[in-house]
Amino acid sequence: MDKKVRVRFAPSPTGGLHLGGVRTALFNYLFARKNNGTFVLRVEDTDQNRFVEGAEEYIVDCLNWCGITPDESPSNPGNYGPYRQSERKPSYRKFAEQLISDGYAYYAFDTPDELDAKRKEIPNFQYGQTTRMQMRNSLTLTISEVEDLLAAKTPHVIRIKVPENEIVHFTDLIRGDVSFETSLVDDKVLLKADGMPTYHLAVVVDDKAMEITHAFRGEEWLPSAPTHILLWKYLGWEADMPQWAHLPLILKPDGHGKLSKRDGDRLGFPVYAMNWTDPTGSTTNGFKEMGFLPEAFVNMLALLGWNDGTDQELFSLKEMEEKFSIDRISKAGAKFDFEKAKWYNHEWIKQSSAESLHVPVKNELQKAEINVSDDAFLNTIIDLIKDRCTLLPDFVAQSGYFFASPKAYDVAAVKPKWTEEKAAFFNAYAENLSLTDAVSAEEAFKTLAAEKGFKPGELMLPFRIMLVGGKFGPGVFDIALLLGVEETKARIAKAIAAFNV
Ligand code: GLU
Repeated sequence: MDKKVRVRFAPSPTGGLHLGGVRTALFNYLFARKNNGTFVLRVEDTDQNRFVEGAEEYIVDCLNWCGITPDESPSNPGNYGPYRQSERKPSYRKFAEQLISDGYAYYAFDTPDELDAKRKEIPNFQYGQTTRMQMRNSLTLTISEVEDLLAAKTPHVIRIKVPENEIVHFTDLIRGDVSFETSLVDDKVLLKADGMPTYHLAVVVDDKAMEITHAFRGEEWLPSAPTHILLWKYLGWEADMPQWAHLPLILKPDGHGKLSKRDGDRLGFPVYAMNWTDPTGSTTNGFKEMGFLPEAFVNMLALLGWNDGTDQELFSLKEMEEKFSIDRISKAGAKFDFEKAKWYNHEWIKQSSAESLHVPVKNELQKAEINVSDDAFLNTIIDLIKDRCTLLPDFVAQSGYFFASPKAYDVAAVKPKWTEEKAAFFNAYAENLSLTDAVSAEEAFKTLAAEKGFKPGELMLPFRIMLVGGKFGPGVFDIALLLGVEETKARIAKAIAAFNV
């Protein structure tokens, strides 16, 4: 019987979550859902120097916001814990020592100064097959020297002994057959002087312990794959090795290289899922706070590297769960295009119901100090203006005038053609104002305009500016209807006074 699918998203808690990371999590999640599998969050926190307080909680919040909550995680453990690598610390040493006794690894006692000296002596120094015999390690020292050093608790690391002249092969689910010559692979540290495993040892031991069946990760990890594959073999676990899938990079908008946080800063768009505030207090913007809907964000991310084989671009998470397949992930990097990201959001806002937009829109209004007391009224407004909104804060500009009369008018658009006759028209219009429905309100307006010798077109723009403040918004009679007779009259009077100055 096939093994039950178990996949893991294994971020290091070092800072904000880059959209490449979210996409890796998303593909893990989709693959798990598609195959009735389990989606695990494992926190890879063995590098104490890079550990950042708060980053784990932040990652969890991002996944929750995206709607891709893991089935097993540090806060919701299953039967494969611990879910934080640092909590597994005691279990790694024995595997590193097993590798030494089987001849696949060795102790290395080189001090930082000795390593520095070698780096100066040998250009592009790599600790590996061509240099290891010049170093201070259990391959060059005698058994008793090594025993003495260990007994004296001399700081040391354990390194993998990469074989000479071999080819390491594996089948990647996205790239097909991949092979590496071992002559190009260095002897990576497996266990550090502080007893912590490095990522390389931990990832293998944990994937085995957690019975991971498929490992999705970014293409930037491809150069580490030969080390991992050798470890699976040397630990005698080859039959349990997960199937690998190295995801294509998300590229800069011009296609030259991997998209970085710096590109976002430079070009003015977010690269993180949510705002990230680092321990120094500096904040980097995220898609959430910029006003993206999570539905649009995950849809956009999935299509950076995946499609369902048709031209369809808009997918709900549910639909992607049904349609996702690894065969349709492309090998080529996907260029990030912020305009396209906004297009997804606009489409999602248009197709979302007022009820589902209600809470995020209300939050935006609150941030702008607009308090909504009538929820049904807000829903009517959302339906009326959503087609005009690309990002959630657009709802504030597009709807603020429903809650308070304009603070300023686009006088330049009215003033040059403003006349006493026009003022008289609006006074007369306001006097007999009746607003039962938009169509008859428009008819009454046009009839009165004709009576007074105006073309309706000359009056429509001033009327809009009276109600809204500027040249924007949905149908002006729809707006008047929602404002009601008293408010519309009050706005006409206030604006006439402003235009007459
Ligand atoms: N801890 C690695 C990272 O930060 C995970 C790589 C992997 O999935 O193997 O992305």
